[in-house]
Amino acid sequence: MKIIMLGAPGAGKGTQAKKIAEKYGIPHISTGDIFRANIKNGTELGKKAKTYMDQGLLVPDELTCDLVVDRIGQPDAAKGYVLDGFPRTIPQAECLTDALNRLGSSIDYAIDVDVPDEAIVTRMSGRRACLKCGATYHIVYAAPVKEGICDKCGESLVLRDDDKPETVQKRLTVYHEQTQPLIDYYTKQGVLKTVDGTKDLNDVFAEIVSILGE
Ligand code: ADP
Ligand code: AMP
Repeated sequence: MKIIMLGAPGAGKGTQAKKIAEKYGIPHISTGDIFRANIKNGTELGKKAKTYMDQGLLVPDELTCDLVVDRIGQPDAAKGYVLDGFPRTIPQAECLTDALNRLGSSIDYAIDVDVPDEAIVTRMSGRRACLKCGATYHIVYAAPVKEGICDKCGESLVLRDDDKPETVQKRLTVYHEQTQPLIDYYTKQGVLKTVDGTKDLNDVFAEIVSILGE
């Protein structure tokens, strides 16, 4: 099963992608997590990506496409995967479609997690991230057992630099300009499914399971 998560920053793509990956036994591939791991490890890619991420801008397509095409070619992705945060532009979607076409394959579902802009800033200011294992929390809606500490690995949780309100506004503008056109793109491919992302996160997941099947 090959799945793409679409939606504004903070809509809940990562939250749902992790649950999908666990239930269906496929890898969760998040380009944001890959970039953050590179930043943490001080790689060249990380240094380049950080300058864009800190401004709420997208990392250029040429730094992103090859990375994903390479990742989905790895053995653990042979039975499928859930892509979270990629594609984010029409050229990225075309790059993915072309790479899959060459393998005689295509995306099965593009799930749009729909949340209005008004709800996004609140969500993002309460998001806390573990930069060690990639787990995500919310101080109100999905709090860790011990405040400020990752349940999974014990690392301290942080407010991501790009989750500060002024950067979130920029990311939303970039989303509407560059990523929202993908909704039409995948509607035309006949794979778009929209879920109401304003519901409780377990209800959102139930809606996704009703689309993907038990
Ligand atoms: P994205 O991957 O789309 O940027 P996340 O999955 O990281 O978004 O979710 C953003 C924030 O909102 C996180 O703090 C997460 O815990 C919280 N969140 C996710 N889904 C819901 C939901 N349905 N209701 C309330 N909060 C949610
Ligand atoms: P995310 O963790 O998905 O919210 O991504 C965090 C940031 O990483 C984004 O705001 C972008 O700067 C960058 N990023 C992640 N995925 C992509 C992508 N597919 N294309 C360009 N930039 C990306």
